[in-house]
Amino acid sequence: MNWVVAVDLGGTMIKGALVNERGETLAVQEQPTQTFKGRDYVLEERLLPFIEGLIETGSREGLRARSIGLAVASPLNPWEGILYNPPNFPGWGVFPLLSYLRERLSMEIHMDNDANLFALGEWLWGAGEEKSPLVGLTLGTGIGGGVVYDHGRLWHGAHGTGGELGHITIDMDGPPCNCGNKGCLEAMASATALVRWVEGYLREGRASTLSLGANAQDIALAAQQGDPLALEGFKWIGRNLGVGLASLANTFDPQLMVLGGGLSRAGMLLLSPALEEFRRRALPLQRDSIKVKLASLGKMGGVLGAAILAFSKEGNPGKEGGRL
Ligand SMILES: [Zn+2]
Repeated sequence: MNWVVAVDLGGTMIKGALVNERGETLAVQEQPTQTFKGRDYVLEERLLPFIEGLIETGSREGLRARSIGLAVASPLNPWEGILYNPPNFPGWGVFPLLSYLRERLSMEIHMDNDANLFALGEWLWGAGEEKSPLVGLTLGTGIGGGVVYDHGRLWHGAHGTGGELGHITIDMDGPPCNCGNKGCLEAMASATALVRWVEGYLREGRASTLSLGANAQDIALAAQQGDPLALEGFKWIGRNLGVGLASLANTFDPQLMVLGGGLSRAGMLLLSPALEEFRRRALPLQRDSIKVKLASLGKMGGVLGAAILAFSKEGNPGKEGGRL
């Protein structure tokens, strides 16, 4: 059995594991990224020791790990491994992470955007049933996206940012987005968008069991207990998500759309209004045939996708050798 080292570098946590060709994991671990300590610290004191630790564990266990897959929460050029001003890593600027790591590690390494690799992980080992095209969305603080097509290839576009689905426009006059645009899906259907929406009404004095400072989890709990403002908030972001899903359906005509990320744990609170809006807007053929499912790999989606990337570059992935 072949193994790889798979790591997911996020703005809050670094996660990783040794992963084999069947998607089984060993030595699963996570650590805070501590981005506030700056780029050199994160690279030298967090990321490199984390990867080296997994390599050592692999050789101690007698596993033949031959390469590393890395998921990064950043807009990036996946071919050259260059990060472009990642909002999650303030001050990193334009940074050639892949060549930095290649100079310091004894093992071959490949990288891609974390949401792309989430989609790939779900496609092969999660809710994706190996159906393609598959559209994956991670709904969390922001919204990431990835598109798997042609039985296991990732859609990168011309500049590597082809799957930035969180920045499709839902409302041309909507709330501002981190990307500088207005009314993006991310600004209208993420956990942050939900919190801001609820805060706006709380400041206006709307009655609710919630108070200022409530996070998305608090709002989900309040909604489950019948709080009208919380329920309305989920209806709002759910509908926005549905508008986005209908546009994505028209763009990609996928077999399947998979929703992951922390906010997707709200389940039907989010999914019911999203599906209702999606079905209202989708073309009849899409409405009846495109499946929308919740992700099944939890927070390991990016790590498992990174493993599939590494295997595919070795030429022995789960399915389509070396085609990503
Ligand atoms: Zn945006």
